[in-house]
Amino acid sequence: MQVLIADDDALSRRILEDCLQNWGYEVVVTSNGLEAWAVLQEEQRPSLAILDWMMPGMDGVDICARLRKLSIPGYVYTILLTARNQHEDIIKGLESGADDYIIKPFNQEELKSRLKIGRRITELEQRIRRMARTDYLTGLLNRRAFMECLEGEICRSYREQRTLGIVIMDIDHFKRVNDNFGHYAGDVVLQELSQLLVKTCRTYDFVGRYGGEEFIICLPGAGRLETCEVAERLRQRVEQEKIHLPEHQRSVSVTASFGLACLSASQMKDADQLIREADDALYAAKGAGRNQVVLSSKSEE
Ligand code: GH3
Ligand code: MG
Ligand code: MG
Repeated sequence: MQVLIADDDALSRRILEDCLQNWGYEVVVTSNGLEAWAVLQEEQRPSLAILDWMMPGMDGVDICARLRKLSIPGYVYTILLTARNQHEDIIKGLESGADDYIIKPFNQEELKSRLKIGRRITELEQRIRRMARTDYLTGLLNRRAFMECLEGEICRSYREQRTLGIVIMDIDHFKRVNDNFGHYAGDVVLQELSQLLVKTCRTYDFVGRYGGEEFIICLPGAGRLETCEVAERLRQRVEQEKIHLPEHQRSVSVTASFGLACLSASQMKDADQLIREADDALYAAKGAGRNQVVLSSKSEE
């Protein structure tokens, strides 16, 4: 686990760094508040921070207060480590948003134990966050998590003037699978197809479960042609896949219909609009006989 250290005193920094490394933490060291603040704003920020109070640029209390106002995914557990030892200081520090307060000079064993509390809490928070983002049956992103990722990706595409494609896949006549083989068999089909989608996509694509038997894929950087190629490849793989049903000692095959929408480098569409377009295209694919790929007419210009 990564821990951020922010202290303007070289000796303090050194002692902390040695201790933390001995205890198995990966350490990011900064020597003033502004540097520390910059690290906390990175996407891959440490989830534990030990902050000195008095530092040039921005002090530790300021950092805590600003951190709590920042809307970032993931909690940063903060420990203020300071020579200020008055009760009013402790209260002010904790009220600013710090999770813990340790007075310098610190006792190493005590710091080690207090860090363990921080670690326990951040690991718990990470586990809960993962669960809240994951679809239980398939392990894919759930709808909310997918939408968050999609919104971020659309902003990035716009900033970098890149294209982006989305694909909604809906299994054809899925109700029949449930009716003929039972709900458990239906679940197996959903799980197997989820794996197939993940395997077929590139590493920077992301896949979500949009609804019951509907899946959604975001293809950052893909233009119309590439989005159509990916969807056609998926369509064929789904059609060819023989899904083994252990309970029935037999396999089944299904087909799926695909609705596609794209964001060209110059267009500004939000996530809802893109999804509406893909959904209309999906509806057209169903109407045209299923087991096919349709690109939204709004993505064709
Ligand atoms: P269409 O080709 O028009 O999409 O037909 P369909 O039968 O796939 O669509 P419909 O919307 O009529 O039925 C979807 C079915 O998906 C009904 C529902 O019971 C089933 N379903 C949704 N979620 C789950 C799930 O988590 N597990 C299982 N086993 N079935 C599910
Ligand atoms: Mg459906
Ligand atoms: Mg369906």
